[in-house]
Amino acid sequence: MVPNMAGIEEAVRILKDGGLVGLPTETVYGLAANALDGGAVAKIFAAKGRPQFNPLIIHCHNFDQAAELVEMNADARAAAEAFWPGPLTLILPRKAGCPVSDLAGAGLSTLAVRVPKHEAALAVIKAAGVPLAAPSANKSGSLSATTPQHVAEAFGDEVELVLAAGACAVGLESTVLDLSGDAPVILRPGAVTAEELSEVLGRAVVYDHGDHDAPKSPGQTLKHYAPAVPVRINAIDLLPGEALLAFGPIKFMGIRGGGAAKDLPEDSLRNLSEAGDLHEAAANLFSMMRALDRPEHKAIAVMNIPKTGLGIAINDRLRRAARASGFDRLD
Ligand code: AMP
Ligand code: MG
Repeated sequence: MVPNMAGIEEAVRILKDGGLVGLPTETVYGLAANALDGGAVAKIFAAKGRPQFNPLIIHCHNFDQAAELVEMNADARAAAEAFWPGPLTLILPRKAGCPVSDLAGAGLSTLAVRVPKHEAALAVIKAAGVPLAAPSANKSGSLSATTPQHVAEAFGDEVELVLAAGACAVGLESTVLDLSGDAPVILRPGAVTAEELSEVLGRAVVYDHGDHDAPKSPGQTLKHYAPAVPVRINAIDLLPGEALLAFGPIKFMGIRGGGAAKDLPEDSLRNLSEAGDLHEAAANLFSMMRALDRPEHKAIAVMNIPKTGLGIAINDRLRRAARASGFDRLD
């Protein structure tokens, strides 16, 4: 069962408008948004209720579209040739100028890409003309959705349309293969096995088991983006030499010893959201941290961000960055 043209057109309209669509794939239903639109991607995290920004899989309609986003290598070409379209996700370095939102990739220098084996998903991605970020369409901590009813029950009005196409053929998440390092490593087991991949790549492909018997959850194997410059959170004023990552109005934000934050040079000031909107802040988080991550700054001082809704994931990311710089005692 495949949605008709009208359904596909409706999905494309919603996606172009920055909305969320429940997208059938052969693995599980995805919660899809335009991967280039940070505000739309923020809606995915808000809807899923994830307390963290995990990087999302970017769905493309063919190899060439994926090759515009990431640096393909010989292993990637061989794996894609053998298993795309299909339940295999490849982690590869982002290309310079890759237009995918930093939030979708959680600020990392690598990106997860896949071409799903599902007529409706491919038709939507192709017609939308943009890659789609789509994690499994379930609330954080719940089981993945394998029927349109699961998606509708979990998200109600948060998703504008569920493209119903019956139950998923595989019903299990894609295998996540990291090809960004020296040796190929499976970060998440799935329908494509290590044996099959070893055969195609002509070399050993191992599971990343970490220290445990059970495979690591994908999130655990991630190296998260952290700025080189120290990060100081919940700042109520600035120290000389610090950059400011603001949230909301900064009229009354002062610099110790004299001066106002609003007069900082352009390179030292970013506002996640002047209006205090958490979706806008999430969409801006990684690119603004990167913009302020300059050696001339002693630290990046970050104003308090409410710990509700998307603010929970924003604070999680900032706290990790602050902890890396020994500043988390101020939290
Ligand atoms: P989901 O979106 O629920 O299907 O899960 C996708 C999983 O892919 C995430 O939990 C990540 O751990 C993994 N993933 C996505 N991007 C990357 C990346 N750049 N590096 C490592 N793992 C990734
Ligand atoms: Mg999931």
